[in-house]
Amino acid sequence: MTEDNTPAVGIDLGTTYSAVAYIDDTGRPITLVNAEGDLVTPSVVLFEGDLAVVGKEALKAIATEAEHVAQCAKRELGDRTFHKPLLGRKYPPEALQAFVLNKLRQDAARQIGDFKKVVITVPAYFDEVRRKATQDAGYMAGFEVLDIINEPTAAAIAHGFLKGFLNKQGESNAPRKLLVYDLGGGTFDVTVMEIRGNEFLALATDGDVQLGGQDFDMRLVDYVAQEFMRTYQLDPREDPNTAGRLWRECEDAKRTLSARAKVSISCDYKSQATRVEVTREKFEELTQDLLNRTQFTTKQTLQAAGLTWNDLDYVLLVGGSTRMPMVAKMLRQLSGKEPDASVAVDEAVAHGAALHAGIILARNRGEAPSVVVRNVNSHSLGVVATDARTQRKRNAILIPRNTALPVTARRVFRTQNAGQQSILVRIVEGESATPADCTPIGRCVVRDLPRDLPAQTPIEVRFSYQENGRLTVHVSVAGTQHELKHELARDNTLTQEQLDAWRLYILGQQAEQPEVTDDYKPMEEGGSGSITM
Ligand code: AMP
Repeated sequence: MTEDNTPAVGIDLGTTYSAVAYIDDTGRPITLVNAEGDLVTPSVVLFEGDLAVVGKEALKAIATEAEHVAQCAKRELGDRTFHKPLLGRKYPPEALQAFVLNKLRQDAARQIGDFKKVVITVPAYFDEVRRKATQDAGYMAGFEVLDIINEPTAAAIAHGFLKGFLNKQGESNAPRKLLVYDLGGGTFDVTVMEIRGNEFLALATDGDVQLGGQDFDMRLVDYVAQEFMRTYQLDPREDPNTAGRLWRECEDAKRTLSARAKVSISCDYKSQATRVEVTREKFEELTQDLLNRTQFTTKQTLQAAGLTWNDLDYVLLVGGSTRMPMVAKMLRQLSGKEPDASVAVDEAVAHGAALHAGIILARNRGEAPSVVVRNVNSHSLGVVATDARTQRKRNAILIPRNTALPVTARRVFRTQNAGQQSILVRIVEGESATPADCTPIGRCVVRDLPRDLPAQTPIEVRFSYQENGRLTVHVSVAGTQHELKHELARDNTLTQEQLDAWRLYILGQQAEQPEVTDDYKPMEEGGSGSITM
């Protein structure tokens, strides 16, 4: 615990499971058990009347009350509402995440006392909108979010701590390069890092926010369901509770297959029952394409970092799904190295987050930082501009992906028409040249321009991108006083009022559940306000 009695707490808010750690008096990260006595808490919410039950109980209810259970909300961050109404009500995905965080906070407080300040982790591949949504979930759960850090970076910090890189002697160690392969329950991330003394530098990052252990489970579910259908011409997946029960059986079987060569999975539906035997070989065949996707991304990331396998000192395994033997086998073949599984795959991310929280709290007290973390951006950031030649809208990139953060980038555009009264700058995130294929982040409007402004007047757009993946935008118009900062109107996140209402509701200080609307305000199209490149 730190001197001013603010504990340094880190939270790994996972798609399927979450974990909390704090730094004890001796400076070591310790995972806090939940009220049920477990190190990890299922990120699952069951609604019973006005009550939100989180964790193991909610996970069990998937087999009996599937319609009332929300799982994998992390995958839907960035959408207005969670795909399924619960007890007829709609929820923003970040509010569901906040219910999970609230339980983690209450359980942790029983052991370390009340606390507010936390670091929460996100997949490195999360875009700006999802990062903001995670920060908002923290706020709604009553936290003050000190920082959002990337899961692989957190894992590398925990690993560095474990290996003694973070003490004084560590600083004289030769630089090390590592690849963090993180396959969790719902997301996949790969990050190439360099540890130089007490500096943790990300060199390149990539991933897939729709690929994780859950997808491996579903392959087993589909296989067993098809075997069942062959015998009984009935699809057990059509009933939500049966499908929920079957998924739980399959997730369990998948874990067994990490230790044993075969497993048998039972399935019963409408008074018919069957047992299906699955070997590890069969499971690996059913999921080969999923593993191949991670392999492809891993190779690409190494290339983006400008490295070869020989340049790496080690490959670090993180995330519960790396317990599947096929993951280590694939990486061994690819890298010619034995993958390092020395960090506790379920706890490393929370430990790293707690260490990072400790660093921030120390810095806030004016102490020299013991560790320096440098990140790269995982997606390119640009603005929508009209291509002067083709008159087509294009994504004009200001900050290409894998740029070291923090960074400031500028690019000059031009007004399209003479006497243009306003300028609309639409900010997008993504690699595609077509704006429609990118994620809209927000927009800035510069209004009341001088009436006689000629066409082709230069407009400078400047992006300042912070290390935590948050963005500030400046727009200035040549020859005028117009300089705009910050006014980033967000299109797909909750307003401050909505956040406050949810915070009161989740913390039990307001009985009424906030209104949820899922009507997006469509982005204003350019018209007279557009800019050309
Ligand atoms: P995480 O989000 O890192 O806690 O990862 C959770 C995922 O790891 C879930 O999809 C689990 O099913 C999976 N998992 C945990 N233990 C094992 C295991 N022994 N074998 C295979 N997958 C596992």
